[in-house]
Amino acid sequence: MQTTEPKTKETIMDVWKKRPLIISGPCSAETEEQVLQSAQQLVATGMVDMLRAGIWKPRTRPGMFEGIGTKGLPWLQRAKKETGLPVTVEVATAKQVENALHFEVDVLWIGARTTVNPFSVQEVADALKGADVPVLIKNPVNPDVELWMGAVERIAKAGIKLIGLIHRGFSTFGNTDFRNSPMWHLAIEMKLRNPDMMMICDPSHICGRRDTILEVAQQASDLHYDGLMIESHIDPDKAWSDAKQQITPSRLKEILGTIIWRREDASSEEFQAVLEKLRQQINHLDDELMKLLGQRMKVADLIGKYKKENNITILQTNRWNSIISNAFKKGEKLGLSKEFVTKYYDAVHMESINHQKKIMDE
Ligand code: PEP
Ligand code: MN
Repeated sequence: MQTTEPKTKETIMDVWKKRPLIISGPCSAETEEQVLQSAQQLVATGMVDMLRAGIWKPRTRPGMFEGIGTKGLPWLQRAKKETGLPVTVEVATAKQVENALHFEVDVLWIGARTTVNPFSVQEVADALKGADVPVLIKNPVNPDVELWMGAVERIAKAGIKLIGLIHRGFSTFGNTDFRNSPMWHLAIEMKLRNPDMMMICDPSHICGRRDTILEVAQQASDLHYDGLMIESHIDPDKAWSDAKQQITPSRLKEILGTIIWRREDASSEEFQAVLEKLRQQINHLDDELMKLLGQRMKVADLIGKYKKENNITILQTNRWNSIISNAFKKGEKLGLSKEFVTKYYDAVHMESINHQKKIMDE
């Protein structure tokens, strides 16, 4: 068995700064044996920086396994002592914060079902006052960046200095390929608003299944995420919660070994020169697009004037439907997704209607 000294505060800082930061462990702590074996198998991969395990589980329906509770905390303490892996646990109430800190949990995380509720986040924040512990904040279950920001602000106001973000996807109605739709743009928006905060991806809760975890994790890497939180279990099919999405530590090792971590900046001069040229092309094309859009709206103004003189409505549904179906065909040939073409045409159409409306109202 690999035995190292428990991490000190300084080494937690080192772990916090490591890129990519890899957090893994079971959805739930189930038994002491399972926690210890998980930690040993994960540390043996040589690729995991922190052990996660849910102690209190927020379950969708009552009667499901709701976590082993406080009695699991000494198991984590022991796992840390025996492997040197710092540990992280989800907290949702003041009492849970108190217990987690008492048992020297190194990093706390706030789950998606807690981030969504300002009362709960405030309770956790109040309990954290004066504590020197890093906190990771998952996105809320609903696609609301403001609510995510609100949770960050509450925790920051409590005096917590090290705050990180976890993107675990958003609930949607109906069946999709994902358990929680990633809606990458929302996480990117959050990252842009908090440029100094680490953003890690939790592909396990996004995917809800094992076979797509690599793909989503690679996308996170391509989008310059700072790390991953991936659920792993020594016997995934027998896991007491989230069995379908958990992977063995050895599969985790394979996945982590396959992901390509790209750099944001490459400093070689040649690379910079080529990139600069391509960026100039992009800038030039963007300028042209803006000019063309301006011209397009001038024509819309003329149409508006003409419709006004002849007392015709602005919106002509048939004409619009034919424009959009032609656009899909053309877009497909040009390699533009239907989603993008729809958004683009909707935006142009709306601007055009606003221009015409202004003329009509004059
Ligand atoms: C978890 O990490 O096991 C968990 C409950 O996640 P989330 O808050 O993202 O649902
Ligand atoms: Mn889980």
